[in-house]
Amino acid sequence: MIQRRGLVAAAAVACATLLSLSAAARQAPAEVIIVHAGTLLDRPGQAPRRNASLIIRGGRIEAVRDGFVPASEFAGARVVDLSGKFVLPGLIDSHVHLTGEQNPNARLENVTQSDVDQAFVGARFARRTLMAGFTTVADLGATNETIFALRDAVRRGDVAGPRIIASGEAVSVHGGHGDINGYREDIMHMFTGESICSGADDCMRAVRLQVRSGADVIKITATGGVLSNTAAGLGQQFSDEELAAIIGAAHRMGRRVTAHAHGVDGINAFLRAGGDSIEHGTYLDDESIRLFRREGTYLVPTLLAGDFVGRIASGPDNFFTPAQTAKALEAGPRMLDMVRRAHAGGVRIAFGTDSGVSAHGDNAQEFALLVRAGMTPLQTIQAATVNAAAHLRISQDAGRIAAGMPADLIAVGGDPLADVTELERVRFVMRGGVVYRAE
Ligand SMILES: [Zn+2]
Repeated sequence: MIQRRGLVAAAAVACATLLSLSAAARQAPAEVIIVHAGTLLDRPGQAPRRNASLIIRGGRIEAVRDGFVPASEFAGARVVDLSGKFVLPGLIDSHVHLTGEQNPNARLENVTQSDVDQAFVGARFARRTLMAGFTTVADLGATNETIFALRDAVRRGDVAGPRIIASGEAVSVHGGHGDINGYREDIMHMFTGESICSGADDCMRAVRLQVRSGADVIKITATGGVLSNTAAGLGQQFSDEELAAIIGAAHRMGRRVTAHAHGVDGINAFLRAGGDSIEHGTYLDDESIRLFRREGTYLVPTLLAGDFVGRIASGPDNFFTPAQTAKALEAGPRMLDMVRRAHAGGVRIAFGTDSGVSAHGDNAQEFALLVRAGMTPLQTIQAATVNAAAHLRISQDAGRIAAGMPADLIAVGGDPLADVTELERVRFVMRGGVVYRAE
């Protein structure tokens, strides 16, 4: 919900734990692992199988077979017994902010923590996210150096975390949701980064610099946002010309563009300009639904963020500023109804939470909110697997359990197709063939 230059929580990283896990991660096993799955939802959307085996070699699924294949079939094979569990693909969260978490000191931490401090905090939250069953995330807003370093550290196996697809700093207008706001003038001058722009040419420059810095995807703030400390509303912030320039520049360099958008003017302008996906979508209307359907564009609703800011702003310990509070009370409660209308209207939905607004590790609470908004448990699981993979354009690597795919899988004790809150109690996590959690 916010582009954060450095909203960060308190403590440092448990280094010893991370070091031992990094050793495990680097040895992404040459041995054969055979997973016995009591129930296997290998391709969410097709019926789950009973009593199946996954043959895993070199961190990838080699085969999916019926029945429990004995260890003796492969020399030196190890069996992981999940015969009493429900096994499904590792979950995907399409919208997180790993390097921070909302708290009463967040606005102070913006100007006291270094990028390095934030990277260590991010390592802790990355691990927590992985342990909650999310093996892939898209991080949509953090300082460039911090999140790109964290992404690469996870890729090398130096830090335990989900695979990270990162936007780095959001492209935003001066004074807009992604710019720094609500501080004294000289501090704001110091912190306005190169991703902040005004005018079509300047915004193309901002996109190109993000690509140069290492952005996998371009995140823009198409409208105002709840947690920026400006009473600038939730409406459109880029002009139509700027939107066209941004999307063209990004697409020419092979990057998709996703837009933070609440107000309907900003949502529809971005969709008309050919943008690739919408985050939040709070005030979408029938015309938005028509535009979403025309291009098959994904919506990432982030109900958990709406729920969280609504609860904080109306609670006894509200730590938001007056400008943040007014917007939280206005936007938060509308989001369930928005998803209900979008889903009924046939809009494609990808799972995303905006975690970092709410607490990291609570990501799976989004499932129950999506069910309250009218989706079936299976549809919410599809949103967090096959749909999120299609949305992030990584279907060849995530979202299913199939021969040739990385061995990213989780297990829960009960049937999440009957009670989706089972996904809040993940018992087993494997990413790339490495077991990170076993009960
Ligand atoms: Zn966000």
